[in-house]
Amino acid sequence: MAIQRHKGLADNVYGAIFNKLMSLEISPGARITVDALVRELEVSQTPIREALGRLEGEGLVVKTHLVGYSASPQITRRRFDEIYELRLLVEPDRARHAAAHVGKDQMRKLKDTAEQMRKLDSIREKSSYFRFARLDGDFHDKIMEIAGNELIRNTLRHLHTHFHIFRLMFHARVTGEALVEHESLLAALSTHDEVGAERAMRDHIERSRQRLLPAFA
Ligand SMILES: [Zn+2]
Repeated sequence: MAIQRHKGLADNVYGAIFNKLMSLEISPGARITVDALVRELEVSQTPIREALGRLEGEGLVVKTHLVGYSASPQITRRRFDEIYELRLLVEPDRARHAAAHVGKDQMRKLKDTAEQMRKLDSIREKSSYFRFARLDGDFHDKIMEIAGNELIRNTLRHLHTHFHIFRLMFHARVTGEALVEHESLLAALSTHDEVGAERAMRDHIERSRQRLLPAFA
């Protein structure tokens, strides 16, 4: 697949490699050779090295001295449990704060993200699934931003949770059900229903965990 040459080159190269990693076309743990990507994407080494550096920052690629780049291994069951334990401790409480503080502009942006996810859900192809993963990450990040504790927000953001959990399995149920749960969350946030927002967030995270558990069966 040749990449279109225009000003969005760097982003396109990044997107192409991101999709390969998320779809497991590049298997977890597999070596990634820059030369092979140069041939396949028909671009120079520079945008590929840039993209790999960016993906390394997002935890999807590992760079090892003398060996080079490889795809990060799939998260372990233990790490999965730890991620969800952390999310359940933090995110419902933050959603409660967000419900108390959310402004009209913030609410509009949040609804906008939810709307983009709904549009993607109707496409139902693999690449839209990965955009969905990114938007889900944005959606949760926006709520953390509204809740107002930058330290908590950054801590969660640096885990790149949504990339790792969405890489576990490709399943249409994951998106459809998440949309319904986001709706409950949005309804509670827009009416400043603090208890409702906390409950909706806890419910969403618990269900998300249940949906992804079969990946370890
Ligand atoms: Zn979500």
